[in-house]
Amino acid sequence: MDTKKIWETALGELEIVLSKANFTTWFKGTFIYSYDQETGIVIIGVPSNFYKEWLEKKYKNEIFEVLKKLIPNLKKIEYKVSSQKLDIPESWNKEAQKSVIEKKSNDTNGMYQFNINEKYSFDKFIVGNSNRLAYAASMAVANKPGTAHNPLFIYGGVGLGKTHLVQAIANEIKKKNSKKKIIYVACEEFTNEFVQAISSGKINQFKKKYRDADLLLVDDIQFLAHKEGTQEEFFHTFNSLHQSNRQIVLTADRQPQALSDLTQRLTSRFAGGMVADIKSPNYETRIAILQAKSLEKNFPLNNDIIEYIAQHIESNIRELEGALNKIITQCELYNAKPSLDLVTKALEDMVNSKQQRVSAQKIMDTVCAFFSLDSKDILGKCRNKELVYPRQIIMYLMRNEMGYSFPKIGKELGGKDHTTIMHGVEKISKSLAKDNQLQKELALIKEKIYL
Ligand code: ADP
Ligand code: MG
Repeated sequence: MDTKKIWETALGELEIVLSKANFTTWFKGTFIYSYDQETGIVIIGVPSNFYKEWLEKKYKNEIFEVLKKLIPNLKKIEYKVSSQKLDIPESWNKEAQKSVIEKKSNDTNGMYQFNINEKYSFDKFIVGNSNRLAYAASMAVANKPGTAHNPLFIYGGVGLGKTHLVQAIANEIKKKNSKKKIIYVACEEFTNEFVQAISSGKINQFKKKYRDADLLLVDDIQFLAHKEGTQEEFFHTFNSLHQSNRQIVLTADRQPQALSDLTQRLTSRFAGGMVADIKSPNYETRIAILQAKSLEKNFPLNNDIIEYIAQHIESNIRELEGALNKIITQCELYNAKPSLDLVTKALEDMVNSKQQRVSAQKIMDTVCAFFSLDSKDILGKCRNKELVYPRQIIMYLMRNEMGYSFPKIGKELGGKDHTTIMHGVEKISKSLAKDNQLQKELALIKEKIYL
Protein backbone atom coordinates (compact mmCIF):
# COMPACT_ATOMS: atom_id res chain seq x y z
CA MET A 1 0.00 0.00 0.00
CA ASP A 2 1.36 3.37 -0.99
CA THR A 3 1.14 5.46 2.17
CA LYS A 4 2.39 8.57 0.43
CA LYS A 5 -0.48 8.51 -2.02
CA ILE A 6 -2.95 7.77 0.71
CA TRP A 7 -1.79 10.66 2.83
CA GLU A 8 -1.84 12.99 -0.15
CA THR A 9 -5.43 12.04 -0.85
CA ALA A 10 -6.34 12.37 2.81
CA LEU A 11 -4.79 15.83 2.87
CA GLY A 12 -6.75 16.74 -0.22
CA GLU A 13 -9.94 15.87 1.60
CA LEU A 14 -8.97 17.48 4.87
CA GLU A 15 -8.25 20.63 2.96
CA ILE A 16 -11.87 20.65 1.90
CA VAL A 17 -13.21 19.94 5.37
CA LEU A 18 -11.10 22.42 7.32
CA SER A 19 -10.57 26.10 6.84
CA LYS A 20 -7.57 26.76 4.64
CA ALA A 21 -5.64 28.61 7.31
CA ASN A 22 -6.10 25.84 9.85
CA PHE A 23 -5.21 23.30 7.29
CA THR A 24 -2.02 25.03 6.28
CA THR A 25 -0.98 25.60 9.86
CA TRP A 26 -1.55 22.14 11.23
CA PHE A 27 -0.97 19.78 8.35
CA LYS A 28 2.18 21.17 6.89
CA GLY A 29 4.98 18.74 7.49
CA THR A 30 2.79 15.80 8.41
CA PHE A 31 3.11 12.39 6.82
CA ILE A 32 2.28 8.77 7.42
CA TYR A 33 5.14 7.48 9.51
CA SER A 34 4.00 3.92 9.46
CA TYR A 35 1.03 1.69 8.84
CA ASP A 36 0.71 -1.72 10.39
CA GLN A 37 -1.66 -3.84 8.36
CA GLU A 38 -2.12 -6.40 11.09
CA THR A 39 -3.12 -4.11 13.90
CA GLY A 40 -4.64 -1.42 11.71
CA ILE A 41 -2.61 1.24 13.50
CA VAL A 42 -1.45 4.24 11.54
CA ILE A 43 1.23 6.48 12.97
CA ILE A 44 1.31 10.01 11.68
CA GLY A 45 4.58 11.87 11.82
CA VAL A 46 4.36 15.49 12.96
CA PRO A 47 7.01 18.20 13.30
CA SER A 48 6.64 18.85 17.04
CA ASN A 49 4.74 18.05 20.20
CA PHE A 50 2.71 21.15 19.66
CA TYR A 51 1.30 19.74 16.42
CA LYS A 52 0.78 16.40 18.04
CA GLU A 53 -1.41 17.89 20.73
CA TRP A 54 -3.41 19.97 18.33
CA LEU A 55 -4.06 17.22 15.88
CA GLU A 56 -5.03 14.85 18.66
CA LYS A 57 -7.26 17.34 20.41
CA LYS A 58 -8.82 19.26 17.59
CA TYR A 59 -8.84 17.16 14.46
CA LYS A 60 -8.89 13.62 15.76
CA ASN A 61 -12.29 12.75 14.32
CA GLU A 62 -11.82 14.45 10.98
CA ILE A 63 -8.51 12.72 10.38
CA PHE A 64 -9.87 9.37 11.40
CA GLU A 65 -12.92 9.65 9.18
CA VAL A 66 -10.97 10.68 6.13
CA LEU A 67 -8.32 7.98 6.58
CA LYS A 68 -10.86 5.29 7.31
CA LYS A 69 -12.31 5.76 3.86
CA LEU A 70 -8.92 5.11 2.34
CA ILE A 71 -7.76 2.37 4.74
CA PRO A 72 -10.85 0.32 5.56
CA ASN A 73 -8.85 -1.72 8.06
CA LEU A 74 -7.91 1.35 10.11
CA LYS A 75 -8.35 0.89 13.86
CA LYS A 76 -6.37 3.58 15.52
CA ILE A 77 -4.28 6.64 14.79
CA GLU A 78 -1.25 7.60 16.80
CA TYR A 79 1.05 10.56 16.45
CA LYS A 80 4.78 10.67 16.65
CA VAL A 81 7.13 13.60 16.61
CA SER A 82 9.48 12.94 13.78
CA SER A 83 11.81 15.28 12.05
CA GLN A 84 11.75 14.58 8.35
CA LYS A 85 13.91 12.29 6.27
CA LEU A 86 12.02 9.16 7.08
CA ASP A 87 9.45 8.79 4.43
CA ILE A 88 8.52 12.13 3.08
CA PRO A 89 5.70 11.89 0.58
CA GLU A 90 6.73 13.23 -2.77
CA SER A 91 5.05 16.27 -4.17
CA TRP A 92 2.85 17.96 -1.63
CA ASN A 93 4.64 16.89 1.45
CA LYS A 94 8.10 17.53 0.18
CA GLU A 95 7.19 21.15 -0.20
CA ALA A 96 5.54 21.18 3.16
CA GLN A 97 8.54 19.64 4.86
CA LYS A 98 10.79 22.09 3.15
CA SER A 99 8.71 24.98 4.27
CA VAL A 100 8.72 23.75 7.85
CA ILE A 101 12.49 23.55 7.78
CA GLU A 102 12.66 26.96 6.18
CA LYS A 103 10.31 28.35 8.76
CA LYS A 104 12.58 27.15 11.50
CA SER A 105 15.69 28.64 9.98
CA ASN A 106 13.71 31.73 9.16
CA ASP A 107 13.42 32.53 12.83
CA THR A 108 17.07 33.35 12.93
CA ASN A 109 17.84 34.28 9.35
CA GLY A 110 16.33 36.67 6.87
CA MET A 111 12.83 37.89 7.32
CA TYR A 112 11.60 37.35 3.80
CA GLN A 113 11.66 33.67 3.23
CA PHE A 114 9.73 32.80 0.08
CA ASN A 115 6.88 30.56 1.19
CA ILE A 116 4.98 30.48 -2.07
CA ASN A 117 3.93 27.31 -3.78
CA GLU A 118 5.52 27.25 -7.22
CA LYS A 119 2.74 25.22 -8.70
CA TYR A 120 0.44 28.21 -8.38
CA SER A 121 1.36 29.97 -11.60
CA PHE A 122 -0.63 31.98 -14.10
CA ASP A 123 -0.19 29.43 -16.83
CA LYS A 124 -1.77 26.73 -14.67
CA PHE A 125 -4.79 28.91 -14.03
CA ILE A 126 -7.74 28.16 -16.27
CA VAL A 127 -9.65 31.27 -17.22
CA GLY A 128 -13.41 31.32 -17.67
CA ASN A 129 -16.16 33.88 -17.24
CA SER A 130 -16.29 33.31 -13.51
CA ASN A 131 -12.71 34.42 -12.88
CA ARG A 132 -11.71 36.47 -15.91
CA LEU A 133 -11.69 39.82 -14.17
CA ALA A 134 -9.72 38.59 -11.17
CA TYR A 135 -7.23 36.93 -13.49
CA ALA A 136 -6.75 40.04 -15.64
CA ALA A 137 -6.35 42.25 -12.59
CA SER A 138 -3.80 39.87 -11.10
CA MET A 139 -1.79 39.82 -14.31
CA ALA A 140 -1.83 43.61 -14.41
CA VAL A 141 -0.58 43.75 -10.84
CA ALA A 142 2.17 41.23 -11.53
CA ASN A 143 3.31 43.31 -14.51
CA LYS A 144 3.08 46.67 -12.82
CA PRO A 145 3.17 46.18 -9.08
CA GLY A 146 2.27 49.24 -7.08
CA THR A 147 0.89 51.14 -10.03
CA ALA A 148 -1.79 49.16 -11.85
CA HIS A 149 -4.24 48.48 -9.05
CA ASN A 150 -3.41 49.12 -5.44
CA PRO A 151 -4.69 47.42 -3.40
CA LEU A 152 -6.02 44.53 -5.40
CA PHE A 153 -8.85 42.91 -3.51
CA ILE A 154 -10.04 39.50 -4.72
CA TYR A 155 -13.09 37.93 -3.16
CA GLY A 156 -15.15 34.80 -3.60
CA GLY A 157 -16.19 31.55 -1.96
CA VAL A 158 -13.86 28.76 -0.88
CA GLY A 159 -11.87 26.77 -3.37
CA LEU A 160 -12.37 29.15 -6.28
CA GLY A 161 -8.73 30.06 -6.84
CA LYS A 162 -8.05 33.13 -4.71
CA THR A 163 -4.93 31.71 -3.12
CA HIS A 164 -3.79 30.36 -6.46
CA LEU A 165 -4.05 33.82 -8.04
CA VAL A 166 -2.29 35.76 -5.29
CA GLN A 167 0.51 33.24 -5.18
CA ALA A 168 0.78 33.43 -8.96
CA ILE A 169 1.33 37.18 -8.59
CA ALA A 170 4.11 36.52 -6.10
CA ASN A 171 5.73 33.89 -8.31
CA GLU A 172 5.64 36.17 -11.31
CA ILE A 173 7.11 39.15 -9.49
CA LYS A 174 9.78 36.98 -7.94
CA LYS A 175 10.67 35.61 -11.37
CA LYS A 176 11.14 39.11 -12.73
CA ASN A 177 13.17 40.30 -9.79
CA SER A 178 14.43 37.83 -7.26
CA LYS A 179 15.46 40.59 -4.85
CA LYS A 180 11.93 41.79 -4.16
CA LYS A 181 10.84 41.46 -0.58
CA ILE A 182 7.67 39.48 -0.80
CA ILE A 183 5.45 38.52 2.10
CA TYR A 184 2.59 36.11 1.74
CA VAL A 185 0.61 35.41 4.90
CA ALA A 186 -2.71 33.90 5.78
CA CYS A 187 -4.53 36.49 7.85
CA GLU A 188 -4.46 34.21 10.88
CA GLU A 189 -0.70 33.92 10.64
CA PHE A 190 -0.44 37.68 10.56
CA THR A 191 -2.54 37.88 13.72
CA ASN A 192 -0.55 35.18 15.49
CA GLU A 193 2.72 36.79 14.55
CA PHE A 194 1.50 40.15 15.78
CA VAL A 195 0.37 38.75 19.11
CA GLN A 196 3.64 36.90 19.54
CA ALA A 197 5.63 39.98 18.65
CA ILE A 198 3.88 41.91 21.37
CA SER A 199 4.31 39.25 24.02
CA SER A 200 7.98 38.74 23.23
CA GLY A 201 8.77 42.43 22.98
CA LYS A 202 9.63 42.21 19.29
CA ILE A 203 7.04 44.56 17.95
CA ASN A 204 9.56 46.83 16.25
CA GLN A 205 10.98 43.94 14.33
CA PHE A 206 7.49 42.94 13.29
CA LYS A 207 6.66 46.45 12.10
CA LYS A 208 9.89 46.74 10.20
CA LYS A 209 9.39 43.44 8.45
CA TYR A 210 5.93 44.31 7.19
CA ARG A 211 6.56 47.95 6.42
CA ASP A 212 9.70 47.19 4.43
CA ALA A 213 8.02 44.71 2.13
CA ASP A 214 7.78 45.41 -1.60
CA LEU A 215 4.79 43.19 -1.99
CA LEU A 216 2.39 42.16 0.75
CA LEU A 217 -0.22 39.50 0.12
CA VAL A 218 -2.69 38.71 2.88
CA ASP A 219 -5.01 35.79 2.33
CA ASP A 220 -8.49 35.57 3.87
CA ILE A 221 -8.54 39.01 5.42
CA GLN A 222 -12.06 38.40 6.77
CA PHE A 223 -10.35 36.71 9.73
CA LEU A 224 -9.37 40.12 11.04
CA ALA A 225 -12.92 40.32 12.35
CA HIS A 226 -13.17 41.16 16.05
CA LYS A 227 -9.40 41.53 16.37
CA GLU A 228 -9.22 45.23 17.01
CA GLY A 229 -5.56 45.38 17.91
CA THR A 230 -4.48 43.55 14.80
CA GLN A 231 -6.80 45.65 12.67
CA GLU A 232 -5.21 48.78 14.01
CA GLU A 233 -1.73 47.47 13.27
CA PHE A 234 -2.75 46.33 9.82
CA PHE A 235 -4.23 49.72 9.09
CA HIS A 236 -0.88 51.38 9.71
CA THR A 237 1.00 48.75 7.76
CA PHE A 238 -1.39 49.21 4.89
CA ASN A 239 -0.99 52.98 4.85
CA SER A 240 2.74 52.84 5.08
CA LEU A 241 3.01 50.49 2.10
CA HIS A 242 0.35 52.21 0.08
CA GLN A 243 1.85 55.65 0.48
CA SER A 244 5.13 54.46 -0.95
CA ASN A 245 3.46 52.67 -3.86
CA ARG A 246 4.21 49.22 -2.73
CA GLN A 247 1.75 46.59 -3.84
CA ILE A 248 -0.86 45.12 -1.52
CA VAL A 249 -3.04 42.19 -2.50
CA LEU A 250 -5.85 40.93 -0.30
CA THR A 251 -8.35 38.13 -0.54
CA ALA A 252 -11.58 37.55 1.34
CA ASP A 253 -14.73 35.51 1.19
CA ARG A 254 -16.86 38.60 0.54
CA GLN A 255 -16.52 42.09 -0.79
CA PRO A 256 -15.05 44.86 1.35
CA GLN A 257 -18.38 46.52 2.19
CA ALA A 258 -19.73 43.24 3.49
CA LEU A 259 -16.87 42.81 5.98
CA SER A 260 -19.07 44.30 8.64
CA ASP A 261 -16.92 43.22 11.56
CA LEU A 262 -13.97 45.24 10.35
CA THR A 263 -13.58 48.94 11.01
CA GLN A 264 -14.96 51.17 8.33
CA ARG A 265 -11.64 52.89 7.75
CA LEU A 266 -10.12 49.55 6.84
CA THR A 267 -12.88 48.38 4.54
CA SER A 268 -12.92 51.68 2.69
CA ARG A 269 -9.16 51.36 2.15
CA PHE A 270 -9.70 47.84 0.84
CA ALA A 271 -12.27 49.09 -1.64
CA GLY A 272 -10.05 51.95 -2.75
CA GLY A 273 -8.17 50.09 -5.49
CA MET A 274 -9.40 47.29 -7.67
CA VAL A 275 -12.06 44.92 -6.37
CA ALA A 276 -12.54 41.73 -8.38
CA ASP A 277 -14.73 38.77 -7.62
CA ILE A 278 -14.45 35.10 -8.49
CA LYS A 279 -17.65 33.16 -8.91
CA SER A 280 -18.31 29.46 -9.06
CA PRO A 281 -17.16 28.01 -12.38
CA ASN A 282 -19.86 27.23 -14.92
CA TYR A 283 -20.20 23.83 -16.54
CA GLU A 284 -17.88 24.55 -19.48
CA THR A 285 -15.17 25.89 -17.20
CA ARG A 286 -15.51 22.88 -14.92
CA ILE A 287 -14.99 20.62 -17.93
CA ALA A 288 -11.94 22.60 -19.03
CA ILE A 289 -10.48 22.46 -15.54
CA LEU A 290 -11.02 18.71 -15.22
CA GLN A 291 -9.46 18.09 -18.59
CA ALA A 292 -6.42 20.18 -17.80
CA LYS A 293 -5.95 18.73 -14.32
CA SER A 294 -6.33 15.14 -15.37
CA LEU A 295 -3.70 15.62 -18.05
CA GLU A 296 -1.47 17.41 -15.59
CA LYS A 297 -1.73 14.42 -13.28
CA ASN A 298 -1.01 12.11 -16.17
CA PHE A 299 -4.35 10.45 -15.76
CA PRO A 300 -6.49 11.13 -18.81
CA LEU A 301 -10.19 10.41 -18.39
CA ASN A 302 -12.92 9.73 -20.92
CA ASN A 303 -15.41 12.42 -21.73
CA ASP A 304 -18.32 10.66 -20.07
CA ILE A 305 -16.41 10.55 -16.80
CA ILE A 306 -15.32 14.16 -17.04
CA GLU A 307 -18.91 15.14 -17.76
CA TYR A 308 -20.19 13.14 -14.82
CA ILE A 309 -17.83 14.88 -12.43
CA ALA A 310 -18.62 18.32 -13.87
CA GLN A 311 -22.33 17.68 -13.50
CA HIS A 312 -22.14 16.52 -9.92
CA ILE A 313 -19.39 18.61 -8.38
CA GLU A 314 -20.42 22.16 -9.03
CA SER A 315 -19.42 24.31 -6.16
CA ASN A 316 -15.71 24.89 -6.49
CA ILE A 317 -12.42 23.91 -8.00
CA ARG A 318 -10.90 22.51 -4.86
CA GLU A 319 -13.72 19.97 -4.76
CA LEU A 320 -13.20 19.18 -8.42
CA GLU A 321 -9.55 18.48 -7.69
CA GLY A 322 -10.50 16.50 -4.61
CA ALA A 323 -12.83 14.38 -6.73
CA LEU A 324 -10.14 13.79 -9.28
CA ASN A 325 -7.58 12.80 -6.65
CA LYS A 326 -10.05 10.44 -5.10
CA ILE A 327 -10.69 8.70 -8.39
CA ILE A 328 -7.00 8.37 -9.10
CA THR A 329 -6.25 6.91 -5.67
CA GLN A 330 -9.10 4.45 -5.89
CA CYS A 331 -7.96 3.27 -9.31
CA GLU A 332 -4.43 2.82 -8.05
CA LEU A 333 -5.52 1.18 -4.84
CA TYR A 334 -7.67 -1.38 -6.61
CA ASN A 335 -5.54 -1.48 -9.69
CA ALA A 336 -8.61 -0.69 -11.78
CA LYS A 337 -9.33 1.37 -14.88
CA PRO A 338 -11.48 4.46 -14.35
CA SER A 339 -15.02 3.50 -15.28
CA LEU A 340 -18.22 5.44 -14.79
CA ASP A 341 -19.22 2.84 -12.24
CA LEU A 342 -16.09 3.26 -10.17
CA VAL A 343 -16.37 7.04 -10.41
CA THR A 344 -19.98 7.07 -9.24
CA LYS A 345 -19.05 5.01 -6.21
CA ALA A 346 -15.91 6.97 -5.46
CA LEU A 347 -17.79 10.25 -5.45
CA GLU A 348 -20.87 9.07 -3.61
CA ASP A 349 -19.88 10.76 -0.35
CA MET A 350 -18.99 14.05 -1.94
CA VAL A 351 -22.16 14.24 -3.97
CA ASN A 352 -24.35 13.36 -1.03
CA SER A 353 -22.72 15.54 1.57
CA LYS A 354 -23.17 18.57 -0.60
CA GLN A 355 -26.81 17.84 -1.10
CA GLN A 356 -27.27 17.37 2.61
CA ARG A 357 -25.80 20.71 3.49
CA VAL A 358 -28.30 22.77 1.59
CA SER A 359 -31.94 22.05 0.93
CA ALA A 360 -35.00 24.06 0.00
CA GLN A 361 -36.25 23.56 3.54
CA LYS A 362 -33.04 24.78 5.06
CA ILE A 363 -33.10 27.91 2.93
CA MET A 364 -36.67 28.53 3.94
CA ASP A 365 -36.00 27.96 7.65
CA THR A 366 -32.86 30.06 7.70
CA VAL A 367 -34.44 33.04 5.95
CA CYS A 368 -37.54 32.85 8.15
CA ALA A 369 -35.41 32.71 11.29
CA PHE A 370 -33.30 35.59 10.04
CA PHE A 371 -36.31 37.87 9.54
CA SER A 372 -38.29 36.39 12.47
CA LEU A 373 -41.11 35.26 10.23
CA ASP A 374 -43.37 32.27 10.11
CA SER A 375 -43.03 30.03 7.06
CA LYS A 376 -46.83 30.04 6.76
CA ASP A 377 -46.71 33.74 5.95
CA ILE A 378 -43.92 33.27 3.42
CA LEU A 379 -45.92 30.60 1.62
CA GLY A 380 -49.09 32.70 1.74
CA LYS A 381 -50.34 35.34 -0.66
CA CYS A 382 -49.96 38.49 1.39
CA ARG A 383 -47.88 41.15 -0.37
CA ASN A 384 -46.65 43.17 2.56
CA LYS A 385 -43.21 44.58 1.97
CA GLU A 386 -42.05 42.75 5.10
CA LEU A 387 -42.94 39.48 3.43
CA VAL A 388 -42.15 40.16 -0.22
CA TYR A 389 -38.50 40.93 0.38
CA PRO A 390 -37.63 37.77 2.36
CA ARG A 391 -39.67 35.77 -0.13
CA GLN A 392 -37.53 37.11 -2.94
CA ILE A 393 -34.38 36.28 -1.04
CA ILE A 394 -35.60 32.71 -0.75
CA MET A 395 -36.26 32.61 -4.49
CA TYR A 396 -32.82 33.97 -5.19
CA LEU A 397 -31.14 31.42 -2.92
CA MET A 398 -33.08 28.48 -4.31
CA ARG A 399 -32.06 29.56 -7.77
CA ASN A 400 -28.40 30.19 -7.03
CA GLU A 401 -27.59 27.69 -4.32
CA MET A 402 -29.76 24.82 -5.49
CA GLY A 403 -30.00 25.54 -9.20
CA TYR A 404 -33.79 25.09 -9.11
CA SER A 405 -35.85 26.09 -12.15
CA PHE A 406 -38.32 28.96 -11.83
CA PRO A 407 -41.41 26.72 -11.90
CA LYS A 408 -39.86 24.46 -9.30
CA ILE A 409 -39.22 27.38 -6.98
CA GLY A 410 -42.79 28.51 -7.57
CA LYS A 411 -43.99 25.13 -6.37
CA GLU A 412 -41.74 25.19 -3.29
CA LEU A 413 -43.21 28.56 -2.39
CA GLY A 414 -46.76 27.39 -2.23
CA GLY A 415 -47.69 27.46 -5.91
CA LYS A 416 -46.51 30.77 -7.26
CA ASP A 417 -46.30 31.62 -10.93
CA HIS A 418 -42.90 31.24 -12.54
CA THR A 419 -42.94 34.86 -13.78
CA THR A 420 -43.27 36.04 -10.19
CA ILE A 421 -40.23 33.95 -9.33
CA MET A 422 -38.25 35.26 -12.30
CA HIS A 423 -39.04 38.79 -11.29
CA GLY A 424 -38.08 38.12 -7.68
CA VAL A 425 -34.74 36.51 -8.52
CA GLU A 426 -33.91 39.33 -10.91
CA LYS A 427 -34.84 41.95 -8.39
CA ILE A 428 -32.45 40.56 -5.80
CA SER A 429 -29.66 39.97 -8.33
CA LYS A 430 -29.91 43.60 -9.45
CA SER A 431 -30.12 45.11 -5.98
CA LEU A 432 -27.20 43.01 -4.87
CA ALA A 433 -24.81 45.03 -7.02
CA LYS A 434 -25.41 48.24 -5.09
CA ASP A 435 -27.28 47.47 -1.88
CA ASN A 436 -24.80 47.03 0.95
CA GLN A 437 -27.42 46.04 3.44
CA LEU A 438 -28.62 43.24 1.20
CA GLN A 439 -25.07 42.03 0.60
CA LYS A 440 -24.46 41.79 4.29
CA GLU A 441 -27.73 40.05 4.97
CA LEU A 442 -27.19 37.52 2.22
CA ALA A 443 -23.67 36.78 3.42
CA LEU A 444 -24.97 36.13 6.92
CA ILE A 445 -27.83 33.98 5.74
CA LYS A 446 -25.54 31.90 3.57
CA GLU A 447 -23.13 31.50 6.43
CA LYS A 448 -25.98 30.07 8.50
CA ILE A 449 -27.20 27.82 5.71
CA TYR A 450 -23.80 26.25 5.19
CA LEU A 451 -22.85 26.06 8.85
P1 ADP B 1 -9.35 29.63 -2.48
O1 ADP B 1 -8.11 30.29 -2.00
O2 ADP B 1 -10.24 30.55 -3.25
O3 ADP B 1 -10.10 28.92 -1.41
P2 ADP B 1 -7.50 27.98 -3.95
O4 ADP B 1 -6.71 29.03 -4.64
O5 ADP B 1 -6.87 27.33 -2.78
O6 ADP B 1 -8.94 28.52 -3.54
O7 ADP B 1 -7.91 26.90 -5.05
C1 ADP B 1 -8.25 25.58 -4.72
C2 ADP B 1 -7.60 24.62 -5.69
O8 ADP B 1 -8.18 24.80 -6.97
C3 ADP B 1 -6.12 24.87 -5.86
O9 ADP B 1 -5.47 23.64 -6.00
C4 ADP B 1 -6.02 25.66 -7.15
O10 ADP B 1 -4.83 25.41 -7.84
C5 ADP B 1 -7.19 25.14 -7.93
N1 ADP B 1 -7.75 26.17 -8.81
C6 ADP B 1 -8.60 27.15 -8.46
N2 ADP B 1 -8.95 27.89 -9.51
C7 ADP B 1 -8.31 27.36 -10.58
C8 ADP B 1 -8.28 27.67 -11.97
N3 ADP B 1 -8.99 28.68 -12.47
N4 ADP B 1 -7.51 26.91 -12.77
C9 ADP B 1 -6.82 25.88 -12.26
N5 ADP B 1 -6.81 25.53 -10.96
C10 ADP B 1 -7.54 26.25 -10.12
MG1 MG C 1 -7.42 30.43 -0.09
